[in-house]
Amino acid sequence: MDSGDVTQLKIGFIGAGNMAFGIAKGILSWKVPAGNLKVSAPSDTNLQRFQEVGVAVTHSNVEAVCGSDVVFVAVKPHLVPVVLSEVFGSVTKDQMIVSVAAGVTLATLEELLPEASVAVRLMPNLPCVVQEGALLFSLGSKAKREHSVLLRSLLQGCGLVEEGPEAWIDVHTGSSGSGVAFVYLFAEALAEGSVKMGMPSALAHSLAAQTVLGAGRLLRDSGKHPAQLRSEVCTPGGTTIYGLHTLERGGVRAATISAVESATDRARELG
Ligand code: NAD
Repeated sequence: MDSGDVTQLKIGFIGAGNMAFGIAKGILSWKVPAGNLKVSAPSDTNLQRFQEVGVAVTHSNVEAVCGSDVVFVAVKPHLVPVVLSEVFGSVTKDQMIVSVAAGVTLATLEELLPEASVAVRLMPNLPCVVQEGALLFSLGSKAKREHSVLLRSLLQGCGLVEEGPEAWIDVHTGSSGSGVAFVYLFAEALAEGSVKMGMPSALAHSLAAQTVLGAGRLLRDSGKHPAQLRSEVCTPGGTTIYGLHTLERGGVRAATISAVESATDRARELG
């Protein structure tokens, strides 16, 4: 498999849900022609939005696999054994099979696939749908360095793509998968604070969303540690340090650390 030019790759998707669409959009945003993609799902409703962007659709999972260099398995976790048994006879050792199913381990994937198969476990998060995902992948035992290079290159339009040992996938699920919801909770509370202080709700929510977005972009693009950026916002005796003191008194830092811990533990339990 040539890891140089991803625009030549044929990509299959089994499952046409939100995650498949998010990943497909990211791939399409990075010079891969829509004609190189093929997606399968049992229902036309799910396939329609793929069709609208020029992606070939089918009800046959085998068709999505045949002729594809990379196949994303993007069905609910309990359906992974079902769809992999369906396509088992069509998978070749030259293909890379990338599962995004939460809790389905590389050992399980390798058990469900033909022996020489190249399996990869990928954990994306919801902002993939706006090409701002945080993605972590782990390679199976048959994968080589070139598979890692190719996958990073293929997914670069989806957001930040990192590789790590499989043990980190559950941590990433806790911090970036579930973490998206933690950030939403904070955004909601920020807006409710403004409403409490007299601002209309719609304005409070749009300003809170922009605040989360702007803070996130600055954090990522500056490369600075969050503590440094935070201290730059704190004028001595000013509003921010008063507010931060209130948050610290409320235990927001400890609660967030515990939230990542319990979400990670839950991901491990489900795995
Ligand atoms: P979804 O319900 O939106 O999509 C599932 C898709 O699978 C649908 O298009 C459905 O038609 C299709 N499907 C059902 N049965 C099928 C079959 N037999 N053959 C082929 N396709 C079939 O789910 P989603 O949110 O896109 O999640 C998909 C996977 O992504 C899950 O395994 C989930 O754990 C993982 N994931 C999701 C997120 C997230 O934020 N949504 C994050 C990380 C990982």
